[in-house]
Amino acid sequence: MEFINIKEYVKKEKEKLKEIVAKSTPMKLTIVQVGNVEASNRYVRNKVRDCEEIGIAAEVIRLDAETTTSESLQRMVDLHENPIIVQLPLPKGVATPTANPRVDVDGFHPMSHFAPCTPGGIMEYLRECGLADGEGKFAVIIGRSDIVGKPMAKMLMAFNWTTAIIHSKTDEALKDTLLKEADLVVCAVGKAGFLDSKDCPQAFIVDVGINFNEAGKLVGDVSIAPGDEERVTPVPGGVGLLTRLRLLKNVVSFYTR
Ligand code: NAP
Repeated sequence: MEFINIKEYVKKEKEKLKEIVAKSTPMKLTIVQVGNVEASNRYVRNKVRDCEEIGIAAEVIRLDAETTTSESLQRMVDLHENPIIVQLPLPKGVATPTANPRVDVDGFHPMSHFAPCTPGGIMEYLRECGLADGEGKFAVIIGRSDIVGKPMAKMLMAFNWTTAIIHSKTDEALKDTLLKEADLVVCAVGKAGFLDSKDCPQAFIVDVGINFNEAGKLVGDVSIAPGDEERVTPVPGGVGLLTRLRLLKNVVSFYTR
């Protein structure tokens, strides 16, 4: 196994995509944002910048939080025939729409033609590090959401990992035992300091969490003990970049398949 610097890996992969985009028909990604939440503004800005960097046109549609309903958002998404994503989180009461699986480049739809971006990006990175093959190995996923935990477990099983999913109702003692045995831990909870790297002494740890500490600094879910830096993915500069890379790959694949 080799711990690969995520920033450098993403930079190289983007260069490859740039070459493909330059030789292809014009590509476009539509990003729908509802309301004006600061976190979403930042996610959208980053995605637009990523697209522009590799030559994909990014169209941002901003909808008013007061007047947008689940129905109007769904209607808008239904009419779309090119790659589209709806930036989460949405305002309270507005349900996440299901895009046509053909254009759902976030990979949220169960029948989507594309890998869900966060687990898909993580899986590709693990492969790059020589860690994807799970035969005889044990992975623990913390969190059971539809966009991270569950699809992550499914993907790892496809690579022969034996998997366990931990959630808020898991017995604490059982959780501790599973973490001690794990070869790989994917932590997607959304609580700063939820996991200490010492809790899983033999595992490679993928930190999915996005949190802001009291000083307003972006931090993950994992506290990294001194000496463990090469077995925990960093935040920032970690899974967020892998997720954004996978999104770009999904858009490119829509136009090149
Ligand atoms: P989510 O839907 O809120 O799910 C969080 C999960 O954590 C739930 O399954 C919950 O269990 C579990 N959990 C909460 N407290 C727990 C505890 N004490 N012990 C064990 N499990 C516990 O969140 P998500 O959408 O999966 O996202 C998780 C985190 O990843 C967030 O910080 C999010 O911002 C971040 N994220 C980052 C990226 C990226 O690109 N970097 C992408 C997606 C998400 P229950 O199901 O029992 O409630």
